[in-house]
Amino acid sequence: MIAFDYVTASDLDNAVRDGAVNATRFIAGGTNLVDLMKLGVENPTRVVDLNTLRRRDDSLTAVTDLPNGGLRLGALAHMSDVAWDDRVKERFPLVSQSLLLAASGQLRNMATMGGNVLQRTRCPYFRDTAMACNKREPGSGCSALRGINRPHAILGTSDKCIATHPSDFAVALAALDATVNVRGASGARVIRFVDLHTLPGQHPERETTLRPGDVITSIDIPGVGFARKSMYLKVRDRASFAFALASAAVALDVQSGMIRDARVGLGGIATKPWRSREAERALIGKPATRPTFVAAANAALAGATPRRDNAFKVELAKRTLVRALTETSA
Ligand SMILES: Cc1cc2nc3c(=O)[nH]c(=O)nc-3n(C[C@H](O)[C@H](O)[C@H](O)COP(=O)(O)OP(=O)(O)OC[C@H]3O[C@@H](n4cnc5c(N)ncnc54)[C@H](O)[C@@H]3O)c2cc1C
Ligand code: SF4
Repeated sequence: MIAFDYVTASDLDNAVRDGAVNATRFIAGGTNLVDLMKLGVENPTRVVDLNTLRRRDDSLTAVTDLPNGGLRLGALAHMSDVAWDDRVKERFPLVSQSLLLAASGQLRNMATMGGNVLQRTRCPYFRDTAMACNKREPGSGCSALRGINRPHAILGTSDKCIATHPSDFAVALAALDATVNVRGASGARVIRFVDLHTLPGQHPERETTLRPGDVITSIDIPGVGFARKSMYLKVRDRASFAFALASAAVALDVQSGMIRDARVGLGGIATKPWRSREAERALIGKPATRPTFVAAANAALAGATPRRDNAFKVELAKRTLVRALTETSA
């Protein structure tokens, strides 16, 4: 039997206060947290339900215009509602696609923006409490290093953890320079999306820069005019209901055949949502041609550390990126 205190948030300040108590978890859609509680991976003594705030604060569920064409996505907005929002589809196709290519229709109707970016890894050893896992139990070892590591990461890894970050949407946010609005014990603050998640290093149990009690209230996508020409390409073992083996979130500004600006995010291969500045540098100022795209893909994967079963991901990720760049520039 799972035993915990269930608390409904009466307002944001109370949620922050209740959430700061040790071993407390917030619940939004619950599609990740409840799953992990049933597996015995997450064992909160208290769960604070954020859904009661939906009725009290519209901004938590809304998609709102920002100056210069940007959009603010409420943290409790559902994946399906954001994916089908006309402004998201027109201004940020890569965001809409990243959401629609994730999970299933039912899950997308439940799952939220905040929960999606904070979902935990799908590493099978993390989800199996009989196996050693430094992320679940610091110092116990990493079963994936010498185990079956086909789905694991090749970028951003350490000798303590090689788990991938599972979110598709987060890859698009990293590429677009999004920011995260947070309410915490010391008030409101803003975190750059690329700084929200941490690399595993020696402490894979630390996954984000959030503090106890911090509630994500919304995510801001700044206006990036050329993101109207963008895509999220996801390669996986089956056509739906599967996590990425490799993915690319790409936006290109091409004028007279030359690349003036570029955004590149990579997923399925890295320990956190991955922004590839190396690929962007290899693209900007170059002709929008296949040799340029191949050079960018080589630059993006130059630092890869493949393991026994996932060396194929180096070539797969390169081809995924080249195809995404080719289709976006057409
Ligand atoms: C079968 C299956 C297939 C899936 N396939 C994919 C896929 O292909 N791609 C993909 O990206 N995802 C996939 N997912 C994951 C799914 O997208 C996530 O489970 C979902 O997005 C999590 O959102 P949620 O609102 O349900 O989060 P919850 O489960 O409610 O919360 C997740 C975590 O976030 C915290 N949290 C939630 N909201 C806030 C907030 N506002 N502030 C602070 N903390 C918060 C919670 O405390 C918890 O730790 C899949 C899931 C399943 C079960
Ligand atoms: S890769 Fe990370 S999550 Fe998976 S077993 Fe190793 S330490 Fe745990």
